[in-house]
Amino acid sequence: TKVQDMSAEVVDSNPYSRLMALQRMGIVDNYERIRDFSVAIVGIGGVGSVAAEMLTRCGIGRLLLYDYDKVELANMNRLFFRPEQVGMTKTDAASQTLSDINPDVVLESFTLNITTVQGFETFMSSLRNKSFRPNKEGSGVDLVLSCVDNYEARMAVNQACNELNQTWMESGVSEDAVSGHIQLLIPGETACFACAPPLVVASGVDERTLKREGVCAASLPTTMGVVAGLLVQNTLKLLLQFGQVSPYLIGFGFNAWLQGYNSLKDFFPTMEMRPNPQCSNAACLERQKEYLLVKPARDAAIIAK
Ligand code: ATP
Ligand code: ZN
Repeated sequence: TKVQDMSAEVVDSNPYSRLMALQRMGIVDNYERIRDFSVAIVGIGGVGSVAAEMLTRCGIGRLLLYDYDKVELANMNRLFFRPEQVGMTKTDAASQTLSDINPDVVLESFTLNITTVQGFETFMSSLRNKSFRPNKEGSGVDLVLSCVDNYEARMAVNQACNELNQTWMESGVSEDAVSGHIQLLIPGETACFACAPPLVVASGVDERTLKREGVCAASLPTTMGVVAGLLVQNTLKLLLQFGQVSPYLIGFGFNAWLQGYNSLKDFFPTMEMRPNPQCSNAACLERQKEYLLVKPARDAAIIAK
């Protein structure tokens, strides 16, 4: 009938009704909690920009964006940025697009290099800022997503998150563009980024020599899109507590040096990585000690359930 057609139209025009259906279908207990969460994304390139768009469309509460680079024409083989944005900073271009898509998301952008002294300080203080949710425990964000393309920047994220006891996820796409990885890192509970050095370090090959001047790494929008999708899916599972990410199932993740997702074979290995008691990162060792103190009580609570 005519009445039924009209009600269908009303439901379809509201993007939130599709998200709220996740609750009706029993996938999540309370979808609206998504508006309370803050996620920081470091690196707004091929993976980070797509992750930012996905979280924006999911209705995340607040996004903090960090990048020092500008949009280039050479980025057009990736998703998200458009040719008319060439020359803008990636943070400005991203804020423009994301606020158009969903004006309800609180966006904060930082055009800086997190590996410089000043940049690292601003990065740390922005993560500590609790103005969005003053009563929140811990830092001012719920999760940090690392979407950078180099070792130094990953080590800077690792340092900040170990110091702040901040859960984060690392991601990456290989130089040949056909494989990638995501990894959940909980300070003290799982291996940190310094606990288990990636392949380039383990094999003694300096990443800087891999990144030779004028030799560009391959990149595919498909692999970057897949990695961004895996990263944000894991983010939603962690924040909204559905599927296989619970506080106990600590070690989701596949690491670059073990070959993570491989698109040539559609191979998706996963594994847990425990912290290294000999880690060179002092803050990691402190978090490991703290975790060992709370672990017996947490294990008992899980067994009791
Ligand atoms: P390519 O290097 O392949 O030409 P890209 O630099 O855009 O492209 P991506 O892998 O698409 O690389 O994205 C990584 C993003 O991380 C880039 O936008 C880059 O500017 C950002 N990034 C890397 N290191 C830092 C850092 N130390 N501080 C802030 N942003 C960083
Ligand atoms: Zn460590």
